[in-house]
Amino acid sequence: MTTTKTLTRKRKMYIRWRNSINIQWLLLCALAVSTLIVKKYQPAFFRQFFIVFVYALLSVLLKEIALRRNILYFHRYSWFFAFLNVSAVFLLYNLGYFPLNFLYVLYIIVISDSVSGFSRELRFTVTLSILAFLLNIIILWPHGADLYRQAGLLHLYILHGVGIFLSLLFIILASMTALSRSRQAEDLIKNLEQLLHEKERNLKQLYEVNAALEEKYAASYTLSLIQQYLLDEMQDPKLLEKITDIIQGVSGSSVCAILGLKDEYQEADEPAARSLQLLAVSGAKDPSVLNRLIEDPESPAYRVLEAKKPSNEKDASPEERAHWNRMGIQSFFLLPLFTKEEEIGLMLVAHSQEGAFNRDQQEFLQLIANQLSLALENILLHQKTQKLAWHDPLTGLCNRYYLNHYLATQEEKFGSALALGCAIFDLDHFKQVNDQYGHITGDMVLKKAAAIIRKHAEAEGGWLPGRFGGEEFILVATCEGSGCCCESSHLKEVAESIRRQIEQTTFTSRDGKTFSLTISGGIACIPNQAKNTDEMIIKADEALYRAKRAGRNRVIIYS
Ligand code: GH3
Ligand code: MG
Ligand code: MG
Repeated sequence: MTTTKTLTRKRKMYIRWRNSINIQWLLLCALAVSTLIVKKYQPAFFRQFFIVFVYALLSVLLKEIALRRNILYFHRYSWFFAFLNVSAVFLLYNLGYFPLNFLYVLYIIVISDSVSGFSRELRFTVTLSILAFLLNIIILWPHGADLYRQAGLLHLYILHGVGIFLSLLFIILASMTALSRSRQAEDLIKNLEQLLHEKERNLKQLYEVNAALEEKYAASYTLSLIQQYLLDEMQDPKLLEKITDIIQGVSGSSVCAILGLKDEYQEADEPAARSLQLLAVSGAKDPSVLNRLIEDPESPAYRVLEAKKPSNEKDASPEERAHWNRMGIQSFFLLPLFTKEEEIGLMLVAHSQEGAFNRDQQEFLQLIANQLSLALENILLHQKTQKLAWHDPLTGLCNRYYLNHYLATQEEKFGSALALGCAIFDLDHFKQVNDQYGHITGDMVLKKAAAIIRKHAEAEGGWLPGRFGGEEFILVATCEGSGCCCESSHLKEVAESIRRQIEQTTFTSRDGKTFSLTISGGIACIPNQAKNTDEMIIKADEALYRAKRAGRNRVIIYS
């Protein structure tokens, strides 16, 4: 903008000086003609005329070259060129002995030449012109008086004096008018320029407000998007990844990660240790680069958690910063996530450029972190509640409610291609254990039996053990990959192994008495014995009933 203004100003200046020099070329032509006339009619004055002509020619040539070379340079030394102008006129008249009443015409031309210019230069030219004019009068006055006296025209001589006085007055008046006009023009230009500046300023302000509004709009849209996700998709296992994706996109960061605090198992008398785990990350090609942040208890992450205050690369030590730089990260912003009671995690945004997060962005990220804290608290609470709702507190196995949910999802997932087996177990004469050794011993037996079943399920990988009822257990076997588990009678083998292990286990009652116990099992599979999971459970239960009737301590496949 400033460059354009300077350019137009330079252009204007150039045009003005160009016109001025063009006028001077014209005057020079007139002077050449005058010199030729003088040569013919007044040869005595020819030498002086010729000298003035050469002087004027050289001065105009000098101006022409200076103007073509550099307008700014020319403009700065305009006082010198005005001096050349005035002195040329002065010399011309002084040497030419012209009658004084013609003198002012040339000065007027010199002055009007500067009318379109700037008041400072004009003032200078006018002063110079008046000085030269007065000097001419002083020098030429005696000659003029002699000429008139010789002609016997003294009254005309007095009239001439009045004319000179009026001429001087005219020069002053003309220059004053020119000065005021040039001032008005200058004021007008100044006002216009001011107006233009104001307009530019307003436009800039409008643009800034607009940009800020747009940024705010984008921020609030993002926040509402995140909020909506948090409300609608709480059970979505990819929820946090979706959120890191959004934050990464909106903040323009290279990496965005959410870290959660987890409690680590400690002996009873030791204080609880808490460590971070990566919950979600977006943008990092290799998430293991964040390991140092998680594993080093001195890392900025733990400091931020302790201080409950955000931190950026400026707070990091030089070696920490060097570590980040090695990963291609020049700036980062770490925000703690916490609830009213406790800190629950961290949000990290990192960028490959230096100083990527300005104050506005940091404030915006803080807003997101607040939302995220609420979300994470909800998610953790949800996970905790779900764990409670889906597990049996005595044995730690999943309960019947979860089993139903699991079987339903399997049916939904595989439809008619579903291949699944289950073994239902029931402890033999368990009532007697309760009656004989008490319920607490009964509970201990249930826990031990559950542990044996769990161990077998874990060994199979992906099999699901559950507590089906009071002293009844279930083992759901997936048949993926290995064909149907019933056909290959693999499930029967596992069930038999469980039965044998329970039979061989020696239980000890609260009062120190030892006893042993047996278990019976019934097996049914989809698609061999049943079409769906409901039927599979019924048939496995029927097989179990048969095992009981056949004398207990055995496993029977439904047929
Ligand atoms: P059967 O061989 O025919 O299965 O004989 P049973 O004695 O095991 O017969 P039943 O299945 O009818 O008995 C189940 C008993 O399990 C009844 C109940 O007292 C006991 N029981 C159920 N849940 C619990 C529990 O959580 N803890 C304890 N200690 N006992 C339980
Ligand atoms: Mg029973
Ligand atoms: Mg029983």
